[in-house]
Amino acid sequence: MAKLVDRPKADLVIRSYIPEVLRGLRVTSRHFWVNFLTRKNVVTIEYPEEKYPYPPRFRGQHRLMKREDDSVRCVACFLCATACPADCITIKAGERSDKNEKYPVSFEIDYIRCIFCGMCEEACPCDAIRLDSGDHKLPGYTREEEVLQKEDLLAKGGLSIAKQGGILQ
Ligand code: SF4
Ligand code: SF4
Repeated sequence: MAKLVDRPKADLVIRSYIPEVLRGLRVTSRHFWVNFLTRKNVVTIEYPEEKYPYPPRFRGQHRLMKREDDSVRCVACFLCATACPADCITIKAGERSDKNEKYPVSFEIDYIRCIFCGMCEEACPCDAIRLDSGDHKLPGYTREEEVLQKEDLLAKGGLSIAKQGGILQ
């Protein structure tokens, strides 16, 4: 059974909302001046000049790692491209002349499709691809800008001394 509740009578002052608006403005002003003068509870930062450090497990822009002789570690095995659920890695393989190995003639990642799941990194047996660059891919104006090439990925890459086969040293 429905219970009837009496509505309190609202006089003209209450119905004008002026006291409540003034009360709200008082609270807003208090927060504004406290934050402006003390910056005590301010959680925003002056991005992009100031940036929060990403957590250690943050998955950002990919990088291709290098060997001690500065050549690319990738052996164009296609495991990352096969594991990628977004089908966004395209590799063209070539033969290395100095070793009985392949290498990527081209290595592209389409960032319009990438979901930063890290499966490529997990699948790689050579520690050749990582998402630990600490940067995120900056947006571009064209679709072409969203496809990073081998050179872009190598530019962020560093030395990896992992044994080929995935055992970290
Ligand atoms: S992070 Fe995931 S979606 Fe992006 S390239 Fe790697 S496997 Fe593909
Ligand atoms: S899994 Fe590693 S070695 Fe194989 S193609 Fe991908 S990045 Fe290169």
